[in-house]
Amino acid sequence: MNAAIIWAMKVPFNKPVYLSRSLKLIKKIVQADKQINIAGDGYYGKLCEAELKKIYKREILLTTSCTHALEMAAILINTQPGDEIIIPSYTFVSTALAFEDRGAKIRFIDIDSGTGNITLDYINNAINKNTKAIVTVHYAGNSMEMDKLVRLCDKKKIFLIEDAAQALGSKYNGKLLGTFGDLGTLSFHETKNITSGEGGALIINNKKLLHRAKIIREKGTNRAQFKEGLVDKYSWVDIGSSYILSDLNAAYLYPQIAIYKKINNKRLNIIKQYKEGIKLKEPVYFIQTPKYNKSNGHLCAIVCKDNKQRQAFISFMKKHNVTTPFHYVSLHSSPYIINKYHRQEKLPNTDRLSNCLVRLPLYYDLKQEQVNQVINITNRFFKQT
Ligand SMILES: *Cc1c(COP(=O)(O)O)cnc(C)c1O
Repeated sequence: MNAAIIWAMKVPFNKPVYLSRSLKLIKKIVQADKQINIAGDGYYGKLCEAELKKIYKREILLTTSCTHALEMAAILINTQPGDEIIIPSYTFVSTALAFEDRGAKIRFIDIDSGTGNITLDYINNAINKNTKAIVTVHYAGNSMEMDKLVRLCDKKKIFLIEDAAQALGSKYNGKLLGTFGDLGTLSFHETKNITSGEGGALIINNKKLLHRAKIIREKGTNRAQFKEGLVDKYSWVDIGSSYILSDLNAAYLYPQIAIYKKINNKRLNIIKQYKEGIKLKEPVYFIQTPKYNKSNGHLCAIVCKDNKQRQAFISFMKKHNVTTPFHYVSLHSSPYIINKYHRQEKLPNTDRLSNCLVRLPLYYDLKQEQVNQVINITNRFFKQT
């Protein structure tokens, strides 16, 4: 085939999963008579929760987003001013925002530059008597050593929350990520492996938190109990917000849950091809999956030599129609945190990934020719630099 034609093909960074069955289900609920519920906690919402419970063997509540599941977590552990929450700086803003909103002090810690995940050493350095919780982010669908983290949290009587937004289906030593902490959170944002557009879920491992979680999700009312026939009217009993996913979104999501393994495997296969096909030379490297993890193929990222090389890479790829974004602008150096504390911590590995990491296109519907194109162009770039 003519190389010029191959390279003319557009390769977006992401395309949300679309299954034609989703549209059928949505049509069914919007065309049916008025008995059918399109608000939250409806027919498809319940089905999604039942499927997710089968996978996780845990209580699960669908939410409007992972951000909101994290907000629920922050409320559920009674986060208050004076509490400190240990969080990686290298993450999406929601991880910190949920706890910041409740007045806690966020202690940002550094990551391992090979995996992008926090480590026990960094946690130990940050723990003190005010530490209320550790929020571990399963970056790229991988994790730190969860058995050690669980032991530490037990010993210190600290809550453990897993931001598993990127980790649906990922495992640590054979056990699903999101099931180790008191609470775990999932995201079904359109950039995640399976999606409802916007959406998420709260995994409840600490059963004592379930009753209150249902109230917080339902605007601080005991409406869930009312619907179950446990109380004869419902009233305002606690704080909370509107955290229930609309049934339209749940209907979009539902068919994807049944094939999440197929979706993850497709992504893993693309990553395998990238890693085998793309030749990188030190100090440039791929983000790694530790041996103890079974990854869900959430992302494939290259860490460039420096920011200049990353910018050159992104431009080069763009010129060849391939979109390769970077993330995260680290939270410890965000305008909000700098304004608040007027100083910046030193987190060298976080800074490194913030400045040098770039992501390759990765989605369920990515075609083989597009994978080949990304590999070819990436190799061309790194050969010449
Ligand atoms: C995507 C993501 C979130 C936010 O998820 P939403 O569902 O968009 O709120 C939070 N944390 C991490 C690590 C994420 O990747």
